[in-house]
Amino acid sequence: MRFHIMTLFPDMVLNGLNTSIIGRATEKGILQIEAWNIRDYAFNKHNSVDDYPYGGGAGMLMQAEPVFQTYKAICGEIGASDDKKPRVVYLSPQGRPFNQSMAEEFSKEEELILLCGHYEGIDERVLEEIVTDYVSAGDYVLTGGELPAMMMVDAISRLIPGVLHNDVSAEFESFQDHLLEYPQYSRPEVWHDKQVPPILLSGHHANVEKWRREQSVIRTAKWRPDLLKHALLTEDEWKIAREIRDKKKINE
Ligand code: SAM
Repeated sequence: MRFHIMTLFPDMVLNGLNTSIIGRATEKGILQIEAWNIRDYAFNKHNSVDDYPYGGGAGMLMQAEPVFQTYKAICGEIGASDDKKPRVVYLSPQGRPFNQSMAEEFSKEEELILLCGHYEGIDERVLEEIVTDYVSAGDYVLTGGELPAMMMVDAISRLIPGVLHNDVSAEFESFQDHLLEYPQYSRPEVWHDKQVPPILLSGHHANVEKWRREQSVIRTAKWRPDLLKHALLTEDEWKIAREIRDKKKINE
């Protein structure tokens, strides 16, 4: 899969993404991450890419033309055309909050363009022409789209075959089946007087799985009860979830 990140700060995204698992996957050629500097497509002698917003108001706005020219250059490189337009995500607090099922959907793309705004955002007209998806990192306002773009690249890349070891990618993780992951423990068996749950040392695989599933239900009911409405729980599991909900209500 190839990511194209349109940004005014290419070093920020490349430095952030060239370490650890994602860095190794790009080295191996499983992923390609290209940062496109929008400033390279400035169309005036001062190399500026922003201007005052019409109608007044605080701050500056990224102008349409440099963003559009960057997009055209990427289209040229990936062989996109008016009939075969690429998927372009604009990172924006006004977009759909990013989640795991969106990561799964985007991971099916061969090429994905991520557009990072800065200052007060980007001239609406170019967004109308090139953007296919508006995605938010959450209900808060950041100074730029670079961190959300990096977050998306990371979450999507983990789903690309070969990026994680096969044994890791097959593991249960949070949001699978609309549940959070169970708590995990490593050596030593006792730390700060806290003992690892004995069941995990029993070597009894089926019992470990049963315990983990129950812990997932408990944790989701405590921390993210909103997820449970889509989860497929047994009658006993619903009972556990309801007990936790009732206990929480009493403590509130
Ligand atoms: N004036 C814009 C508004 O109120 O919707 C916010 C602009 S913000 C200061 C500058 C840029 O940061 C945006 O263009 C966007 O690319 C990025 N950004 C800020 N918060 C974000 C969030 N929660 N999710 C994704 N991108 C965000």
